[in-house]
Amino acid sequence: MKTAALVLAAGKGRRFNNSTPKQLHKLGGVELLVRSVKAFTASPQIAFVVVVVDDDLKEKSAEILSQYDLSDILMIPGGRSRQESVIKGLEVLQGNTPHKVAIHDSARPLFKGEELVEILPLVKPGVGIVVGKPASDTIYRFVNDLATPLERSSLWIAETPQCFMFEEILAAHWSASQERLHSATDDAQLYIECGGKVAFYHYDSPNLKITYPEDLQIAEVLLCRDSS
Ligand code: C5P
Repeated sequence: MKTAALVLAAGKGRRFNNSTPKQLHKLGGVELLVRSVKAFTASPQIAFVVVVVDDDLKEKSAEILSQYDLSDILMIPGGRSRQESVIKGLEVLQGNTPHKVAIHDSARPLFKGEELVEILPLVKPGVGIVVGKPASDTIYRFVNDLATPLERSSLWIAETPQCFMFEEILAAHWSASQERLHSATDDAQLYIECGGKVAFYHYDSPNLKITYPEDLQIAEVLLCRDSS
């Protein structure tokens, strides 16, 4: 069984609001992009990795990856939305006929690839696995100026990686783009819309998404705590 990893790094990072692209910022001295790619290249469960990057950053990203002995990683240009970047990556991976795929946001540099040994066997035909955590905040749905509380005990926060049988998630993405849906914020929602079932893998360690500048400072603290 071959498993591929698709690492997404083609976002513009507008909310990060810095002239250096978010994925090229360092955390503990290592770029976010490199940390996310290494989580998969270091895993014996992963046969190959494709990275989706902004076309303008392809050269710079290749240069950085090569400093970490990652120069053989295939990099492809991203799309206008996360969903478009995923479909481009999946279509390239198709040539390698993987059985399963782990799709990961490079903006989550703290994910530890060792966990894949537990996660990937849980992926079965018709069942995708999403890394996440039970919600710890109270969450409301807000529609037409009215707030409705949601039952917290049934709410989970979806993180990445999200892992699926390869052909199934590719079909879900094709189906969504045929229906002109282009802005899904994760893959599991498209999979569910296509009739797939999704289970959560409770990932206990921090897996923060770096969105705002202060997230990087928080991640530095979490990283220090982890290594002490
Ligand atoms: O913007 P958002 O937080 O949803 O981005 C999640 C991940 O998707 C990030 O790692 C980002 O680089 C990636 N992305 C992408 N192509 C886009 C938009 C986002 O690869 N067009």
